[in-house]
Amino acid sequence: MTTIQSKPQIISVALDIPLYQTFSYIHDKPLANGQRVLVEFQHKKVVGFVWGEDKPTTYSPANLKPILEVYPEIIFDDIISLIKFCATYYHYPIGGVIFNALPKILKQAKPVNVSPAKSNQVPSSSPRMTSNTSPKMTGEQQAIFDDISKYLTQFHPSIIYGVTGSGKTQLYLQLINEVLKHGRQVLVLVPEINLTPQMLERFQTKFSDKNITILTSHATPRARYLGYLAAQNGHAQIIIGTRLSVFTPFANLGLIVVDEEHDQSFKQNDNLRYHARDLAIWRASQNSIPVILGSATPSLESLFNYKQGRYHLYRLNNRAVANASLPKIELVDLNFHKTNHGLTQVVIDAMKERLTRKELSMVFINRRGYSPILSCNECGWVSTCKQCSTTMVYHKVNHNLKCHHCGYTLFIPPKCPSCSSQYLQALGDGTQKIEAIIEEFFPDARIERIDQDTTNTKSSWNDLYTKINNNEIDILVGTQMLAKGHDFHNLTLVVGLNIDSGLYSYDFRASELLFTQLTQVAGRSGRGDKKGQVLLQTKYPGHELYQYLITNDSPGFINYLLLQRKNLHLPPYIHYAMFRASGREIAKVMDYLQSVAKLMQKIAIKGVTINPAVPSVIQRLKNKERAQILIQSLERQQLHMLFDKLLPLLQQMKPKYSITWIIDIDPYEV
Ligand SMILES: [Zn+2]
Ligand SMILES: [Zn+2]
Repeated sequence: MTTIQSKPQIISVALDIPLYQTFSYIHDKPLANGQRVLVEFQHKKVVGFVWGEDKPTTYSPANLKPILEVYPEIIFDDIISLIKFCATYYHYPIGGVIFNALPKILKQAKPVNVSPAKSNQVPSSSPRMTSNTSPKMTGEQQAIFDDISKYLTQFHPSIIYGVTGSGKTQLYLQLINEVLKHGRQVLVLVPEINLTPQMLERFQTKFSDKNITILTSHATPRARYLGYLAAQNGHAQIIIGTRLSVFTPFANLGLIVVDEEHDQSFKQNDNLRYHARDLAIWRASQNSIPVILGSATPSLESLFNYKQGRYHLYRLNNRAVANASLPKIELVDLNFHKTNHGLTQVVIDAMKERLTRKELSMVFINRRGYSPILSCNECGWVSTCKQCSTTMVYHKVNHNLKCHHCGYTLFIPPKCPSCSSQYLQALGDGTQKIEAIIEEFFPDARIERIDQDTTNTKSSWNDLYTKINNNEIDILVGTQMLAKGHDFHNLTLVVGLNIDSGLYSYDFRASELLFTQLTQVAGRSGRGDKKGQVLLQTKYPGHELYQYLITNDSPGFINYLLLQRKNLHLPPYIHYAMFRASGREIAKVMDYLQSVAKLMQKIAIKGVTINPAVPSVIQRLKNKERAQILIQSLERQQLHMLFDKLLPLLQQMKPKYSITWIIDIDPYEV
């Protein structure tokens, strides 16, 4: 009998450090990739994850610190490959990707001590109905179901392009049911705002005997970790979660559904700037499983992929409820119709009519607070944030000014801080102001305001649904929170106010976003058997966007936008990356970016355009001055080549002052 003498091993460990490298430690035997360990780094005990094989190194093992502790947790293989892909694709430090992706509990430098007694399985608050109560599929739904069911064991990316109210969720439920029958698990990604009590209830009703786990940003660290474990050990059959859930490990994943795939909240806009939909597609291709992208207004990126032959497309053209038709969308031309406190007589009359008929109206204005600006009549002072180059929003309800970018809050100054004048005025309209105006017009109406300030918790949504179901609300006033996924059967009028700002914006995605929002918000109307009406107040009724909208011609608008993007050399016809930097002084940030731009020019990749450095649109954010370089490329590969060559050079080029920078691939923030 021989004993194998264990030999000291050099182990690479990824740490939560913004550097593009791993760190070497010593241990008496090899450790598996993804193993959670405790090490010392800069005199502190920190947690790390074993990453990569032993690299040829000049260190002598004698100079290396030991691994202090080896924890039992280990990152699952399919997540390891996702993390690797993320680090390469987004050019982000590997440690940063790992620490973004994992549940908080695994990042703590101590043993995990979580008993899996309670999980964040959906609590059964009411008696569960049996699973055969779901309505029969329509012919359209059935045909799509039959086709996708043929591809359950292969990569099959498909867009389900269905008008609002066409029953996309019903189709998901049937497909999920089919996948569960084969003993496989399902990941459903939803925008946070769409995870409504109604949606959950439909899942609970359909899958009353299954383990459904919810992973949102509201989940406690413990709940999130338990959900993570339940998916990893195969106990959870369905995971419904927001963006971050795309990093959930699965024992046997069989299907990914991305609901409202166009939603911009799938893109993370800080730290690791990943896009959860894109990662979901990558995971599906790695696992050879179908992935479904559902939307009434699919993103241009996804439709472009369909046109390129990479994705499949299925259409749902009709509303699922018998006799329900798409609402009639009408434009109220503000050049002809005078407004009284922002409302035209057409709108006031339509609301009056709904009150008489005891039907629900909804007023959409995509700005919360009372007014976006408080200003001085005498000297022109405006309420700017001291930490950001933005204005602070006047909130009448709390009697304060609040920056919606950094959260900085101030009491309303009793007089102008600049000239001491008493005459401060609120400019522009927000939800609070519109609510107040409608109260004046209809003093007897029961009005409810829905925005981030009033309706941010699950219980507030539940209260709202109860009130609506009991016919205790006549008029809803709210932001885009109202637009998502809700099904109010008695809602027959939708009014859109101040919608024009998205028409002419510096952000090339603004018109796509506006069209999507208006389609979604209009789609709330007339979902039951009562006909819906939509009134949009605009100064530009002739604009193409509105013309496509009133004819419910979303495919037409998308083709129009795609052509525009093609002609203007914009994504998805061209690939974008943004090199962003921030620091205390804009001059130094610009100075740094100019030298980075020079480096990029020197690397000189053919087909890649490097634009001059410019300050960001919101130049100061949370006390940091920000600027950026836009990089464009016809080929994605070329873009990656540039950054692969740039990164080592950047590491050597240490700025003289404190500058942080990040690469943003496929940026959404312009
Ligand atoms: Zn003043
Ligand atoms: Zn601010």
